Amino acid sequence: MTGQYSINAEDLHAGYGTQDIVKSISCSFAPGTFIGIIGPNGSGKTTLLKAFSRVIPASGILELDGKAVSDFTPAELGMALGFVPQDEGRPFSYTVLQVVLMARYARTSRFAALTPDDYARCHRALDETGVAHLADRSIRTLSGGEWQRVLIARALAQDTNVLLLDEPTSHLDLAHQSDILTLLRDLAASGATIIGVFHDLNLAALYCDRLIMIKNGQMVADGTPDTVLTPEKIREVYSAEVVTSCHPATGRTFLMPVKAINGNVLPLKSLNVQVISGGGSGSGLLHFLTGRGLSVSAGILATTDTDYITAKVLELACIPVLPFSRIPVYALEKLKAMLAQADRVVLSVHPIGAGNLPVLLALCDMDPARIIIHLPEGREFASYDFTKGTAAAACQGLCAAGAPCTSTYDGILRLLSPNFNGDENHETRNTN
Ligand code: ADP
Ligand code: MG
Repeated sequence: MTGQYSINAEDLHAGYGTQDIVKSISCSFAPGTFIGIIGPNGSGKTTLLKAFSRVIPASGILELDGKAVSDFTPAELGMALGFVPQDEGRPFSYTVLQVVLMARYARTSRFAALTPDDYARCHRALDETGVAHLADRSIRTLSGGEWQRVLIARALAQDTNVLLLDEPTSHLDLAHQSDILTLLRDLAASGATIIGVFHDLNLAALYCDRLIMIKNGQMVADGTPDTVLTPEKIREVYSAEVVTSCHPATGRTFLMPVKAINGNVLPLKSLNVQVISGGGSGSGLLHFLTGRGLSVSAGILATTDTDYITAKVLELACIPVLPFSRIPVYALEKLKAMLAQADRVVLSVHPIGAGNLPVLLALCDMDPARIIIHLPEGREFASYDFTKGTAAAACQGLCAAGAPCTSTYDGILRLLSPNFNGDENHETRNTN
């Protein structure tokens, strides 16, 4: 592919009947780029792709390689732009090869036969999409994923410089998803303009150079994945809570949903909860409480601790310290100030040695009624004690003074609830 084509749209409107679905879209796509179009269900992604590929009429400016799309003959358009629908009916029992060969007819004069080169191109497309072994199969016998790859093969066999794909991996398993997306990324790297609609934001972030985010038919963001996939924009457009991070294995933006706020917990929303954890004991708990909409802070955490990474990703306040060193005085003072501010403190029991014992002792100076102890099922304080008994005795002292102890996250929620009645302590237990 020479990569000389690209799309330019200005004030594009398109829809069905008299109703505009996509409104006032302006964007242009340079050759050699893999663009992802994202947005919630019904936001107009498919409609936009159909407008780009002239499947439906559009008003405004729409150019392909500098020429108005409306000036292309159908045959010219077929040589300039390939369109892969999300699915397509299979009314006839064609073979896979016959369907892919159809892509080549746009390139031949009306009565000419296909050449060996046409056949070779189609076989290559079948190879590239991993369906060569299905060449002689009736398309009606294919699985959804196999059919999706045949539709992609047909578009590849068109040999166009612009390829539009509507959720091209929606029916594919993990391995085929990455095969197809790698293929598309390689095509873009060799100069093609690839525009795909994506449902899976992590896949889009992983493969696309640029993302366009649509809401109610309008463009609300356009840029690199890290600038488009921010928690604020996701909240605004998808009404979903996510945390984002740079994935250590790929260096690409990675997004993780945080569980939607549970209605039962809404009364707790304003509660300021301080979690004291370490050695990875708090990761799940920090995620759980944050996901329930509580205002959570982490405590003093070594920068090599998994809990620290979790706190950073969740954007929680914490006090980072160097690993393998005694807790500095300033960090302890800061923690004491945070403990004083917190409505409740959750001690996620973790290994305690001489280095972090001062934190536990700081808890012992607090009103035990403000503390909840989380001790995993089947464990004892003694198994976390590396202080020859001081830490275990301090934990037992907290319990004896009235700090409730639970082994489950839901137990913590119940203990945090303002309606919690201390007598209903079926979740709590004595731990010796
Ligand atoms: P997306 O691909 O983002 O999920 P679509 O572009 O398919 O969204 O649809 C956008 C809106 O257009 C939806 O409200 C949908 O119901 C409507 N729509 C889609 N196709 C048609 C059609 N053929 N006729 C009328 N309305 C349609
Ligand atoms: Mg769609």
